Amino acid sequence: MLSISHSLTGAYLAATLHPAIALPTILASHYLEDWMPHWDVGTGLSAGTRKRSTAIILELGELAITIGLVYLFFQTGKDNWQIWAWIGAVVGILPDFLEAPRNFLKWEPGFIKPINDFHALFHHSTPNILLGLTPQIVLWWIIWYMK
Ligand SMILES: [Zn+2]
Repeated sequence: MLSISHSLTGAYLAATLHPAIALPTILASHYLEDWMPHWDVGTGLSAGTRKRSTAIILELGELAITIGLVYLFFQTGKDNWQIWAWIGAVVGILPDFLEAPRNFLKWEPGFIKPINDFHALFHHSTPNILLGLTPQIVLWWIIWYMK
């Protein structure tokens, strides 16, 4: 899924659950979300229908949007820095950060390979943007109203 979806989910769970429960739940949510057919900026990389340079540029733009949305959802209107929401947002996209060198640079440290192989077991993407984005947009709305 998009970093936006993983980060907003992670931020929400971190902001609402005890940290001891939140962190494993956030990681589990990442794999559950990736299991749903989805579209993201990496869709097409393995099939060769998207260039790596295009995916990197799109991902950098998406990360900037992600930071803005986490701020909008969890920081605006708050007097205190919502550190747990930000930690949750980062943990929410941690499996994708670990996989990024393999996807974007064709480089994978050996100790990360088992984690990335586990991650790949859950990944179901679709080239259909409408089908792949609709559940994510619904998720964003649910988080917006539940936060
Ligand atoms: Zn992932």
